[in-house]
Amino acid sequence: MKWTLKCQKCGREYNGFKIRCDCGGLLDVVTSLEGDLKSLINSRYTDIRRYLHMLPVEEEHLPKITLPITPIVHLRYREREIFFKLEYLMPSGSFKDRGTYVTVSRLKAEGIGEVVIDSSGNAAISFALFGKSENLKVHLFIPAYTSAGKKKLLHALGAEVHEINGSRMDTHRAAEEYGHGLYASHWLNPYFIEGTKIVAYETYENIGNVDYAIVPVGSGGLFLGIYKGFRELNQLAYAEIPTMIAVQARGYESLCKKSREKATLPEGIFIPEPPRKEEILDALQKTNGFCISVGDGEVKNALDKLISMGFLVESTSAAVFAALNVLIDNDQIERGARVLLPLTGSGLKNV
Ligand SMILES: [Zn+2]
Repeated sequence: MKWTLKCQKCGREYNGFKIRCDCGGLLDVVTSLEGDLKSLINSRYTDIRRYLHMLPVEEEHLPKITLPITPIVHLRYREREIFFKLEYLMPSGSFKDRGTYVTVSRLKAEGIGEVVIDSSGNAAISFALFGKSENLKVHLFIPAYTSAGKKKLLHALGAEVHEINGSRMDTHRAAEEYGHGLYASHWLNPYFIEGTKIVAYETYENIGNVDYAIVPVGSGGLFLGIYKGFRELNQLAYAEIPTMIAVQARGYESLCKKSREKATLPEGIFIPEPPRKEEILDALQKTNGFCISVGDGEVKNALDKLISMGFLVESTSAAVFAALNVLIDNDQIERGARVLLPLTGSGLKNV
């Protein structure tokens, strides 16, 4: 695939490893996909490598960890066809591995062996796992309040953990100001969206078109990736672009009206201002989509229900199922509709 990084603000193009433009603008991976879907899919593989031609990677620089195609479970639920995509079955237990996979591949291509990451959750665990596998030195900046279990897991994976006394934003600043290694967090990272767009390709190859995609929005990397994937599929195979529905947590809304209530459960989406907010709003508008926010009560019920259905996920993952229930109650999703519901993170890490 031919690709380049392009700045949204000044239009400058880059080819080396870059998270943000020198002017401060956000970068996009701009691709030119030629041919049709069938000719681009690498059918000798049954894993992520089926879609190598759609990614800004070279086969010789791929990470040693190969990602699976995540399973889809189809259930008829309240007279709608729901397709649960089990992203929590990725190697480190979350969809973040998709973004890490492409990022690590770019780091290998550029010969970069030391990076700085800030995260308190799934992205940290994902990077620590890939770091261990690749002999990549990972400096992880985490808030000191991060749960003891997660800290233990990060240490066990051999990451160098820097605990910061302060908020999530203080942690972010400390990581950016740290002198060693390249800053490579998922927050602004354009490679991350390339990784998550493969969710759309896998879905389309497995089940064809869907009418709706209900996706949690924290920093927006999964949402924008799925949207980008469906846009490419529309170009390559005339696939339909589903109505995109963004799910945020009460009290952290930036795409819909902010509520006074503040959720405490879906911690993965406690992000008041996603860096690519304008792009998300544009996707909602172009697909007739909208934003919905959910609170603790709805998330708790949804999590309980998901677990009893056999999906052992964390509470952030339950936000989309909580949203689905509200949308069905309000008749905003019609009977018989085909709905994609990614379940993002494993519940086993919270034990
Ligand atoms: Zn620029």
